[in-house]
Amino acid sequence: MSIPEQARQFDLWIDGAYVASEGGRYITRTSPAHECEVTRVPEGTAGDVNRAVESAKASFESGVWSRISGAERSAVLYAVADRLVERKEELAMLETLESGKPLTQAGFEVEWAAGLWKHAAALCRHLYGESCNTLGAGTVSMTLREPIGVVGLITPWNFPLLIASQKAPYALAAGCSAVIKPSELTSATTLLLAEVLKECGVPDGVFNVVTGYGAPVGQTLCEHKDIEMISFTGSTNVGKAIAATAACNLKKVCLELGGKNPMIVMDDADLESVVDAARLGAFFNMGECCNASSRILVQDGIADTFVEKLTEFAKGLDVSDPLNDASKLGAIINEAQEAKILGYVQAGREAGATVCMGGNKVETEKGRFIEVTILDKVLADSPVATEEVFGPVLSIVRFKTLDEAIAIANGTDFGLSAGIFTNDYNQSMKAARELRAGTVWVNTWLEGHPELSFGGYKQSGLGRELGSRAVEEYTEEKSVLFSLGKRQP
Ligand code: NAD
Repeated sequence: MSIPEQARQFDLWIDGAYVASEGGRYITRTSPAHECEVTRVPEGTAGDVNRAVESAKASFESGVWSRISGAERSAVLYAVADRLVERKEELAMLETLESGKPLTQAGFEVEWAAGLWKHAAALCRHLYGESCNTLGAGTVSMTLREPIGVVGLITPWNFPLLIASQKAPYALAAGCSAVIKPSELTSATTLLLAEVLKECGVPDGVFNVVTGYGAPVGQTLCEHKDIEMISFTGSTNVGKAIAATAACNLKKVCLELGGKNPMIVMDDADLESVVDAARLGAFFNMGECCNASSRILVQDGIADTFVEKLTEFAKGLDVSDPLNDASKLGAIINEAQEAKILGYVQAGREAGATVCMGGNKVETEKGRFIEVTILDKVLADSPVATEEVFGPVLSIVRFKTLDEAIAIANGTDFGLSAGIFTNDYNQSMKAARELRAGTVWVNTWLEGHPELSFGGYKQSGLGRELGSRAVEEYTEEKSVLFSLGKRQP
């Protein structure tokens, strides 16, 4: 596929159709790899959000989606999964042009997203309440799970379609109606998703997309009294602001935030697996990944060999035009992110870290690319080892004992994911118990399954996505009690 000659223009998606923003302004997205304009999406206003919420509320109250059976909703969500795969090329291309990620990875993301729609489709038919049987013979009780209402979904730029698909299918499976605000940098695939939902039979008003900036669009969603829940994925700072705003009507808030995920490598680890996992963990999606293994804690005995092998391997990673089949790392999302990444590398250098490879911009005619960067002998408490870099920069911190590694691993404000490579059962179990993170991988990394819940400890989040209870997150629980016969005074 080649780059289109003209930027593709979209409108907002409200009440099952494209409609212009009341403000009439557009945000133009330039490809970070090719430096040409690729998409234009409306710069939404508070009024646009109000229109979208009104439509979502009307659809919710009409019962056209919220009151039908799980089996009926399930059939529609399965169809969405299939249609996403049918439109994979178009979706992946738009994702690559807006984000700069390799096209092969964008294609994989579409398939992954489709898998989430299938998972939610299956869960549609498995929402259960409870009945307490010990309240006495004259009483029957039950709990009901009911859709929470209209939900606001706010997503970041790094995996736009995937993260929309960690939220929307589960909200819809519960019977909710939704208004989603994608990142202003990567909005196009969320708008295509809305088209797909309509094609597959989701009633008008159930899924609405308002593009635009955090303020006013995201903020208005958080303030809106007719929204019962906000599910947000993004940075920790914005997450905190959202939780504060959403308190206005005590909305439920689910937050998936940043991470600084430690991968512990013990002396007895299988080096080949570690090198492969480190490559994927640190450099997949240019390291612009909440689950990136951007700090690797390596035990002294194996550290020199590990660094040597990883550096050798990483030299083969192709950083180039994301449309090249061979490209493993594409362009960096924007100038601010590029400056932030290079700033962390510089700070690491000044703090005495050894730059084993990379550390600079790649000199190209067009686009923003950063070299695959490995820093060794990084101080455990330095900013590059404790703060989220969100770029292709891997920090190696050396340690002596597992207790020391666990203390370093737990020593940040984050707790999204963590992992250990070892063949010693006791060491892996100890780490699995003591690491304070929502996901702990043992002898693997970045392996995700929708069947397992995902979320963060500490300042990495609030609530969980995916897993067997993913749909419950979007419900209220009601207790119902029947008193049989004449009520006893
Ligand atoms: P961000 O927090 O800057 O923006 C996320 C979204 O929030 C965007 O749509 C943005 O427009 C919107 N927003 C900004 N200000 C807002 C406000 N005041 N009110 C409402 N909405 C507002 O994050 P980003 O730069 O797009 O994404 C990168 C961050 O996302 C990283 O910190 C990364 O770790 C995190 N992330 C977390 C996960 C996870 O599942 N835990 C997954 C992917 C990304």
